[in-house]
Amino acid sequence: MAKRKFSEEQTEYMIKMRSEGMLIKDIASIMGCCPKTARRYLDPEVRERGDAYSKDYQEKNRARIAARQSKYAQENKERLNEYSREWAAENRDKRKVITDRWRHNNNDKIVAAGKRYNAENKEMISAKRAIYRKENKEMARISSAKWHEKNPGKKRAWSVRRRALEKEATIGSLDEINEIYRSAKEDEGIVCYLCGKVIEKGCGHVDHVFPLSKGGAHTASNLRATHANCNMKKHDTILEPILLNPGDRVIDREGDIGTVVNSDDPHNVQVHYDNGGSSINCIVPECESFEGLWPEGVSEK
Ligand SMILES: [Zn+2]
Repeated sequence: MAKRKFSEEQTEYMIKMRSEGMLIKDIASIMGCCPKTARRYLDPEVRERGDAYSKDYQEKNRARIAARQSKYAQENKERLNEYSREWAAENRDKRKVITDRWRHNNNDKIVAAGKRYNAENKEMISAKRAIYRKENKEMARISSAKWHEKNPGKKRAWSVRRRALEKEATIGSLDEINEIYRSAKEDEGIVCYLCGKVIEKGCGHVDHVFPLSKGGAHTASNLRATHANCNMKKHDTILEPILLNPGDRVIDREGDIGTVVNSDDPHNVQVHYDNGGSSINCIVPECESFEGLWPEGVSEK
């Protein structure tokens, strides 16, 4: 007879039968197991010894057991499939509990598998999505509206990124850039870099200090939160470059930040960059070798 597992209740029942003087072999036959198993359940010491032994065996023979199991599964594929289908049909609720528990404990695995699948089936997925959107216009509109509500600033960040790609601008870390757009839309107490006043929560715009249209970089260092009005007033004008003085913090076209060392000659403004380099920049817009250098944060002045 096969080894069986008994619940606590069943074990108690067996112990009760034994205490009433019943023979182990009779208890075994009532419980539908072999006498050895019954003995294990009746004597905790035997049981512990047995459990320890089988745990030890499993640990020492992991590969062998796995090989045996997979061989068995291969040889009995159809039978096992049919069995699990039948079992699942008869135990819908149990099955849900088991799968939910598995999902809960293996979230990392599920996420990784999903990412792998998406990467391997990119084109197929986007084609399917396009068809779905066409066939379910209203649903798609609602779900996209919901998404935008949950991800403030991301839509804007994406459309600006597209524009930056078109302009072949230097593009920085997407995470850092998205964080600025998110913060402008969501955070409280954000200060407008153009006027220095606090922006009302949810109303922040994001501006390129060095305008994208004039060759500015799409990097976090070249982006600042502003009032909608201040942003509109500034539009794509470049902040007044002639006012630079030694010690001024500046930003250049590539979004690099540094400090002005010498600005006596607007054709030869020396800058030490925070990342270690230094350069000579011409800040006269009419000049042919015009590089562009703008105050990093107007509000700090
Ligand atoms: Zn402002």
